[in-house]
Amino acid sequence: MFAHIQAAPADPILGLNDAYKNETNPNKINLGVGVYKDEQGNTPILQSVKQAEERLLTEELTKSYLSIEGTDNYRQSVQTLLFGENHPIINKKLAHTAHTPGGTGALRVAAEFIKKHLPEATIWVSNPTWANHQAIFQSVGLEVGSYAYYDASSKSLDFESLLASLSQIPEGDIVLFHGCCHNPTGIDPTKEQWQQLAKLCGKQGFLPLFDFAYQGFGVGLEEDAQGLRTFAEQVPEMLIASSFSKNFGLYNERVGALTIVCETADNADAAFTQIKRAARTNYSNPPAHGAAIVAEILSNKALRSLWEMELQSMRTRIHEMRGLFVSTLRSKGVEQDFSFISKQQGMFSFSGLNPEQVSQLRKQFGIYIVGSGRINVAGMTHENMDPLCSAIAEILT
Ligand code: PMP
Repeated sequence: MFAHIQAAPADPILGLNDAYKNETNPNKINLGVGVYKDEQGNTPILQSVKQAEERLLTEELTKSYLSIEGTDNYRQSVQTLLFGENHPIINKKLAHTAHTPGGTGALRVAAEFIKKHLPEATIWVSNPTWANHQAIFQSVGLEVGSYAYYDASSKSLDFESLLASLSQIPEGDIVLFHGCCHNPTGIDPTKEQWQQLAKLCGKQGFLPLFDFAYQGFGVGLEEDAQGLRTFAEQVPEMLIASSFSKNFGLYNERVGALTIVCETADNADAAFTQIKRAARTNYSNPPAHGAAIVAEILSNKALRSLWEMELQSMRTRIHEMRGLFVSTLRSKGVEQDFSFISKQQGMFSFSGLNPEQVSQLRKQFGIYIVGSGRINVAGMTHENMDPLCSAIAEILT
């Protein structure tokens, strides 16, 4: 029964990580997979997380199942992070949130929910987008299309083409937006551009689905939510897939959430029962530990301010590495303009390096970059910056 099955191709990003582990070059550098790294190249457990875990260890009374949607305090904390304190959506109970296994779990539940209840809808993703988006939606049988986003020549947002693309999307389709820190380009719309997009969404009648995996990694917790909050003001319905892998460093605890916003509280109640149904047939109920940590941190003043400081220091380090990368390349005599990297947000940038150059960096120098040229800026440190930029200078000249 199994003999005919062909091996699946390696995941373009996670597969790269496996290859990196086997790399024998002692000076190897990993700018591939999207995890935050500190100055020592480690992905540390945050102090706020450790302290929350200590409390949970003494206070936790049971390992019994959670409900399908997760605990109330986690779900409320997520909504406050998304919309801000006392937002009308929260006060009028227009949103419901389900705790999901990571942001991927949220997207998968969203995909199944969409397929069942809006089966004719096409889902539109930016070109380019996170490599898993297409696969997740296609795996439930949804049509996936792409809209213009990135201008490779100017290394910036092609806003005119974006607007033109979205103007073609019919009522009833779904458009996925990256809430902030667009993966893989690092380019987000400005406040004014978000306003235009939200207005267009209202006019066209498509449903926005926000993938919000990097809140706090761009400018700040509140600022990074401005896109989805702008939409929330202008359109009555939306879906939001949250991930806390990055901003709490809880990658392997699988903490995420799917939030649905409806026009009325009754609509929200009814639609949420269907989201729970999708979760029930997927994983039954979510894993408790990571969400308990998030809820503990967000509901305790001291832990929350410690977490915000830690988040800020991750954000600041990434910004610093962006600037240093640009100036070090310049100091190595690279003439190509890389200044766009210091203007982008989050962990990723599209370097503009082509597949051949990416492969050369890997073979000659043990430097690992995703084939598309996406670099994880958080993989850079003061120590590896010089050899990294020397290698890039060598292949570019
Ligand atoms: N969306 C985007 C844009 C991402 O970059 C990621 C993680 N790389 C996810 C969703 C998935 O997050 P998680 O690891 O929590 O499943």
